[in-house]
Amino acid sequence: MELNRRELLSTAAPLAAAGWIATAAGCASAQEAGKAMAAAPAEYTLPPLPYAYDALEPNIDKQTMTLHHDKHHAGYVRGLNATLKKLDAARSSGDFGNIKHLSRDLAFHGSGHLLHTVFWSNMTPKQTAPSADLKKALDRDFGSMDGFKAQFGAASKKVEGSGWGILSFEPLGRRLFVMQAEKHQNLTAWSVAPLLVLDVWEHAYYLKYQNKRAAYVDNFWNIVNWEDVSRRYAEAAG
Ligand code: MN
Repeated sequence: MELNRRELLSTAAPLAAAGWIATAAGCASAQEAGKAMAAAPAEYTLPPLPYAYDALEPNIDKQTMTLHHDKHHAGYVRGLNATLKKLDAARSSGDFGNIKHLSRDLAFHGSGHLLHTVFWSNMTPKQTAPSADLKKALDRDFGSMDGFKAQFGAASKKVEGSGWGILSFEPLGRRLFVMQAEKHQNLTAWSVAPLLVLDVWEHAYYLKYQNKRAAYVDNFWNIVNWEDVSRRYAEAAG
């Protein structure tokens, strides 16, 4: 819970509605969440990896992890902060001539930062297993764990261009969805909470796997942190 709360405050709070924060951060009320939002830092920061750069070898190599985290993810954090500054300036001057461009940048860099933050904690070198509740939900919504893995793997392998495979919780129907995201922000559904995400941009795998995205996706199952996915499910569904 501590980790998640800190993670939300440093990464997600300003983008999320108070009600979602109340659920996801385990706050007692929207009022408490409102206080948390007010206390959130003005700038987004790059969270450190929760393990060493080489911890996921041989499934993901050290050089890829270093470039991916320190250069690519850092770039989305910078882009998000820069976009928010430009939006401040637009409000100050009353000049919204660039609003379509800035709104697009907010969605792109904001989603990029949020998804990478989930992605790092979704992986671990340790052996982990899904909670009984998550297992039950996967069985209910995908028929079985194998059914889920088959759909998630196929969706991830078939993302057109750069994007993500995403397992998410949809709070209205209280169902799990497997979706694709193109870039970071396209093809999503409003109000879903990402539980397990897989980056299939070429920068995530090309140094080691070259054009063999399918092999990278298949090896992802060796390093999934099911404890983290189960915690995200419990908080989203709780
Ligand atoms: Mn990436």
